[in-house]
Amino acid sequence: MNEIKMLNLKGQYEKIKEEVDVAVKKVMDSSAFINGPQVADFGKHLAEFTGAGYVITCGNGTDALQIALMALGLEKGDEVIVPAFTYVSSAEVIALLGYTPVMVDVDPATFEVSLEHIMAAYTKRTKAIIPVHLFGQNCDMEPIMQFARSHGLYVIEDAAQSIGSEYIFSDGKRRQSGTMGDVGCTSFFPTKNLGCYGDGGAMFTNDPDLAARLKMIANHGQKQKYHHSVIGCNSRLDTIQAAVLDVKLRHLGEYCMERRAAADYYTACIKEWDPDCRFAETPVVKGNTTHVFHQYTLKIKNGQRDGLKKYLNDNGIAAMIYYPLPLNRQKAFEGIAVEGEQLYNAAALAKSVLSLPVDTEITRDMQDVVLKGIFDYFETGK
Ligand SMILES: *Cc1c(COP(=O)(O)O)cnc(C)c1O
Repeated sequence: MNEIKMLNLKGQYEKIKEEVDVAVKKVMDSSAFINGPQVADFGKHLAEFTGAGYVITCGNGTDALQIALMALGLEKGDEVIVPAFTYVSSAEVIALLGYTPVMVDVDPATFEVSLEHIMAAYTKRTKAIIPVHLFGQNCDMEPIMQFARSHGLYVIEDAAQSIGSEYIFSDGKRRQSGTMGDVGCTSFFPTKNLGCYGDGGAMFTNDPDLAARLKMIANHGQKQKYHHSVIGCNSRLDTIQAAVLDVKLRHLGEYCMERRAAADYYTACIKEWDPDCRFAETPVVKGNTTHVFHQYTLKIKNGQRDGLKKYLNDNGIAAMIYYPLPLNRQKAFEGIAVEGEQLYNAAALAKSVLSLPVDTEITRDMQDVVLKGIFDYFETGK
């Protein structure tokens, strides 16, 4: 039986094995496992790639979000607006620091938070917004930034899934995901579009003072060794991971294109088979952002999602639900999070979304197997 996984990290490694192995061996030979020169080199190259004024690397994407929030100096009980339809990290860090996560709904077409939902939840206690560029395309940042600026709110972009995606402002200016808010946060978890071989993360900012604070907080609140001016944490990108990332960053442009090509193929085939969207809706690609397809996510109609998923999985085809339970329904947030509005779309999406295998290694033949699985499920009336 054909086994089609969500992604093939081994296949991707094999293509760049020589470059990676040389880079890792160099770290091993130098034994500079913490803060070796590769960490700064990668940070510099990532700043060049993204156009961010400052890049501060750290231990993982969740730490990046936490450190970003810590750097803003909010007070207990301050409200931070975050979508309910996202990975837990985006909201977890708000609660962890004693702030109030105010959960809002997302646009049912793009899965992302828009200004309309932010405005519905805005109160006098709102201090920050965390737009999540879910599945690989940017939220509509221009109106969000305008609103934030006119209301004195901080914006922390969760760009864990969107590195390499560009947003196009109405004046034609293009900015990389994560470089538009006060701080942008990303993750190098192995399955992310720029993944290392363990944990890693980074923060982007254009503000030199904020950059200094982020750096200090990530390093035990110290600027000078053993002199701690604020409470911080210990969050570092390992030298080995930085060495791996520096190699992979050189391939990120082609990785984005490969994912996009695979996504376009799925969409073309599904639309041809189901032009009236009777069974499934393909992802909406907005005009003012590029999409890097961290996930290729369908909306399955008529309550068929779970049946289709089971059928595919039983036939050796991976398909995953991101995310099965909106954060406002999670036990952990009971009594902590506030619902900034009715969260209808998040609830409906949790019941209808299905993500198909998409990565840099998937072939059209493999995609045909996935597609045949979908078509068979609906056509044989299972
Ligand atoms: C992966 C992810 C994170 C967290 O990154 P880690 O490196 O796993 O801590 C945060 N937000 C979103 C949307 C993510 O997908």
